[in-house]
Amino acid sequence: MSTTRPDPAGPVDDDAAGGILHIDLAALAANWRLLRDAAGGAEAAAVVKANAYGIGIEQAVPTLARAGCASFFVAHLSEAIRARAVAPEATIYVLNGLFPGTSPHYRAHRLRPVLGSSGEIDEWAGFCRAQSEALPAALHVDTGMNRLGLGIPEGMTLKDNPHLADFAPSLLMSHFVGAEENENPLNARQVEAFSALRETLPGIPASLSNSSGIFLRDNPQFDLVRPGYALYGGNPTPYADNPMNPVVGLEVRVVQIRTIEAGETVGYNGRWVANDRRRVATLSVGYADGYPRAASGRGASGETMLSGMALVAGHSCPFAGNVSMDLIIVDITDVPDGAIARGDCVTLIGGDLTIDEVGRRAGTIGYEILTNLGARYARQYREAAP
Ligand SMILES: *Cc1c(COP(=O)(O)O)cnc(C)c1O
Repeated sequence: MSTTRPDPAGPVDDDAAGGILHIDLAALAANWRLLRDAAGGAEAAAVVKANAYGIGIEQAVPTLARAGCASFFVAHLSEAIRARAVAPEATIYVLNGLFPGTSPHYRAHRLRPVLGSSGEIDEWAGFCRAQSEALPAALHVDTGMNRLGLGIPEGMTLKDNPHLADFAPSLLMSHFVGAEENENPLNARQVEAFSALRETLPGIPASLSNSSGIFLRDNPQFDLVRPGYALYGGNPTPYADNPMNPVVGLEVRVVQIRTIEAGETVGYNGRWVANDRRRVATLSVGYADGYPRAASGRGASGETMLSGMALVAGHSCPFAGNVSMDLIIVDITDVPDGAIARGDCVTLIGGDLTIDEVGRRAGTIGYEILTNLGARYARQYREAAP
């Protein structure tokens, strides 16, 4: 027989860690207020799936609740149970639907499933009938993603579904396909389809916007907005300056500094070559910490191939060679001698190295950088004012 036990990896001390993650909960609260004010009267909820985009659900949820946030969205039931433990009064929705047989967990923890298929609706309605309790749930209609939710034709006939009387539909929602592209014609089509849908179910509060949707012109915002990324400092308007405050910073330690000669290569498989004498520093972070290997520095020194970057004593230093599991090597030739030493910290996220920029340099998006933030980092939380 197999047994299971809890993850033994507990919190990491600063001195024991290769990297220190600085998480600014005051900035998180300020970002929520900024989004609430931008949403023009709609209720501002918070999306805290994936461990609150990597920053920690146990820290983010109480901070946001104290700032005035009353509704939270997670992806998984397990995340909802964690959120409930730190937010006893909050409304909590589970986006990833209702798996067969899980309804009792929703009732026990006072959670609301997001129902996106007739099977899920039947299951929740049946459970509610059996309990003789009309429990709340959201209805999700897919207006273009083809991912989760009832199709538009099915959505338009929801009003005739007798099962809706068995529970308490508390939210009608859909999701933007590409609201960060403000010129994408799909946005207006989704707003139009969702508006028509909403007219068929007038008594149910409606929600469409994610972070970027809040900043779209000609979007009525409806009754509730669901920002995630922007809360954590990501830019919801990539076509313009970032209106949000940075929440996450990452500093990592220098393990070694060495000088190499022209023709020498750096890292696994020798994918980076020194054109002349270079100084390189080895940092105690790698892809096992969630830093993407795709940010590896390839080519020759001085060539400007897109790669990861570190800020070393104020200088931008490109990655040299492949990111390895636990280590990254950076070219610090431009950093004055003595400005950086073994054991000092350099910045991998912070200043000009925003999460969006780190994502871009790794060929991905800032969302992926955040949600992969490693478990080996020491985490320092700056508390929001009470
Ligand atoms: C993740 C998610 C959000 C939040 O999106 P951001 O782009 O991070 O603001 C909102 N709604 C749904 C359905 C989601 O899955």
